[in-house]
This record gives sequence, C-alpha cells and structure tokens, in this order.
Amino acid sequence: MFYDEVEIYVKAGDGGNGAVAFRREKYVPYGGPSGGDGGKGGDVTLVVNPHLNTLYAFTNQREFIAPNGEHGRNKDQFGAGGANLVIQVPAGTLVTDAETGEFVVDLTHPGQEFVAVRGGKGGRGNKRFATSTNQAPEIAENGDPGEARRLKLELKLLADVGLVGKPNAGKSTLLSVTTAAKPKIAPYPFTTLKPQLGVVAFGPDDTFVVTDLPGLIEGASEGKGLGLEFLRHIERTRVLIHVLDATAPDPLEDFAAINAEMVSFGHGLAEKPQLVAINKLDMPEGREHFPALKAAIAAQGYEVFGISGLTREGVRPLVGRAYQLVQETPIPEAQSVVIPQIITPPPVEEGFSIARDAEGTWVVSGGKVERAVLRTNLNYFDSLLRLHTYLEHQGVIKALREAGVEEGDIVRIGEYELEWRDEE
Ligand code: GDP
Ligand code: MG
Repeated sequence: MFYDEVEIYVKAGDGGNGAVAFRREKYVPYGGPSGGDGGKGGDVTLVVNPHLNTLYAFTNQREFIAPNGEHGRNKDQFGAGGANLVIQVPAGTLVTDAETGEFVVDLTHPGQEFVAVRGGKGGRGNKRFATSTNQAPEIAENGDPGEARRLKLELKLLADVGLVGKPNAGKSTLLSVTTAAKPKIAPYPFTTLKPQLGVVAFGPDDTFVVTDLPGLIEGASEGKGLGLEFLRHIERTRVLIHVLDATAPDPLEDFAAINAEMVSFGHGLAEKPQLVAINKLDMPEGREHFPALKAAIAAQGYEVFGISGLTREGVRPLVGRAYQLVQETPIPEAQSVVIPQIITPPPVEEGFSIARDAEGTWVVSGGKVERAVLRTNLNYFDSLLRLHTYLEHQGVIKALREAGVEEGDIVRIGEYELEWRDEE
C-alpha cells in the first residue's frame, strides 16, 4: 500500500582497550599490575515514540554511530562506557536487514525498545591477569569492535486526518496544496507514496498523514482488495476535514448527505472530530454564500474555516488546527495485537576450519577463534603467549601442524596475519 521507507546505517561503539600498567612504589621493585579495563561501547537502540507518524525525521540523519568506550588507564582506572544512542521511530516500523532482506523486528508498541547493534565489550587490563606464578603480566585485551549493520525501516503510513466531501468539493486540490505548501522543508524524499496520501510536515518531528477517504471508499467498494487496508486507515484517522463547495447549488444539503453516508458506513467514522472547510472562496458566489453557510454550520456545533484550495487562502490555519486536534486525540487501540518478538543475535560460532588460499596463506576461520585474536593486544609478548595457549587449547595449533604448516608460512586468523615459527 502506502509505505514510507528509508535505509539507515547503525554502528555501536567499540569497547575500549585494557591497559598494561604497573604501580610504582618506593620500596617495591615491581609494583603490582594496575592497568584498568576498557569501557563498553554504546549500543544503538530503536524506541517507539507514539507521537511520530512518519519516517520524515530520517531526511536529516541516516547514520547513527554510538560513542566508543574509553581505554583503560594506569592506577586501576577503568575506561568510561560509551553512552547508548537512541533512535526514535513511529509505531508500526518494520525493520529488516538492508543487505540480506531478513526480518529483524516489528516495532508496534509505544515504548517498545530494540537493541539494533551492541557495543563492544571493553578489554581487560593487566591487573586481571595476575596469577601466583605471573605477578607482573604484560597482558591486556583489546576491546571488541561494536556491531554495525545497515537497516531498512518501513512504515505503513496510516492516515491521521481524513478528507471527506462530495465529489468536486476540492479534496484532491486541498490535499495537494497542504502537502506541498511547506516551502522551508526539503522535498519529501520517499517516492513510494501514492498521490492520495500526503504527508504534511511542519518540522522533522511534526508531521501528519492526510488522505482522501472517499477515494479509498470507492476503491474498497470496487473490490480492489483495499478493504482491510482502508479500514486500518479509518481506524487510525483521528480528525476529519469535511470539504464543502461554497459554489454548489446547496452546500448545506451536501453537508448533511455526507454526514448521513458516514453514519451508515459505520466503523466509528461519523463520531470522529470534524473540521468544516468551506472551499472556493476565491469565487465571487462562494465569498457571497460564506457568512450564512458558516453561521448555519457553526450552529450545528462545528468549527468552520473559510478557504480556497486554489489560492491557498486560509489553508494554513485549517491545517494547523487539524494537527492540534491530532495531537490531542489518542490513537485508537489497534484491533490486531501483534506480540513483539525478542530477537537474540546468533551465538558466536563454535569450532574452526582451516583452508589455504591462492597465495598459500593458511586461513583459520571460526567465530570464537577470530574473536580471541581480535581481543589480543599484539604489542605485548605475554598477550601473544596467552593467545598461543588459547589456540593450543582449541586444537588450532595441532590442526595446522597436521595440515602441513611450515616454518615461515603465513597464517591468517580474522584480520590478523601471523608468521609460523616452529620452535623444536
Ligand atoms: P475532489 O473531487 O473533492 O477531489 O475535488 P478536486 O480537488 O478534484 O476539485 C474539483 C474541481 O474544483 C477542480 O476543477 C478544481 O480545480 C476545482 N477547485 C478545487 N478547489 C478550488 C478552489 O479553492 N477554488 C476554485 N475556484 N476551484 C477549486
Ligand atoms: Mg478527488
């Protein structure tokens, strides 16, 4: 149907590196290790804000990068964690992975929160590695990198304001001028909008969706499969603008006829707050009929606006009032309850495999092994030793030997390349 969609890039903060440091004490030749841990990187989360109606705010920003954790320091000082970055999205935002197209999460409930990418864990400082046999370890871990991914956000636009009125009253014209009458706002970038549905934007977080309801009713009755879609629009619509042609033979009768039609249609349509827009005041006879029409309709308890869709006279106050009413009227409860899905990222892959590439480099792949290498601060001998012990435990060293690795060969694990040394 009518989708708003945008692609964003989210990157969580990297974990800070652990520090290698030693206390200096006057009479202690080797003070104890005192390198602090690195801080955790910030997460990027998506949160449902019920006051948003569109993805318009993403016109301004499409990249969201959470801060990194600070590195650990000497004197047991831990690095500070990076703050989490929160992205507000409207209810009904469907999130998929932009690269694979896989379903990620359906954000339906106000306040619902989803961690899109997790910040990297901070590396441990050398203080953590002291043992009875090694009291001065030169070991520190690097922080884990923060996760990053491209996400596609899709929002099925549902109307907040519905235009009703007789054919030729000027609904389509009003729709086109309200949605295009914002000279300070950049052109709406989402191309998938159908012309019957327009987004009115006062600002990035102040938008609402307007639709031409009779157009949809016609579509539904023609059996175009619009039925359910249309009902969702009706349910969600909080305010109606009833457009009257002041130059018509009997505008008051038109007004009554449409109201009667809405009552017989049901679905709560007739009970929605209604603003009446008396249109075509640029025409002399429209102008002439306006005062009496306004009085008659105001006497029925309606708020009345005089406008001309053609010259845009009076359109802005009408739209402003409609928006105010949208804000004041709670969104009706959705009929279908969607149970939010909790998505847990896949576990880090166990095991490893060994292959040889065209240049003769041995390539060791495997989630756990690659992560261990990433965590190793390769500048410290003790750290390298610890990695070696780990690889031995995992059976990587033995497997490489069995595969025929020789002195001087290059072994690549993840992003790191190591040279093989056989110490017989
Ligand atoms: P709809 O059937 O309610 O969608 O009405 P349209 O927007 O298609 O308008 C029907 C006719 O009225 C078109 O010829 C419009 O150009 C004309 N029209 C719409 N608004 C105005 C207006 O404010 N002044 C005048 N003079 N004509 C208008
Ligand atoms: Mg029309």
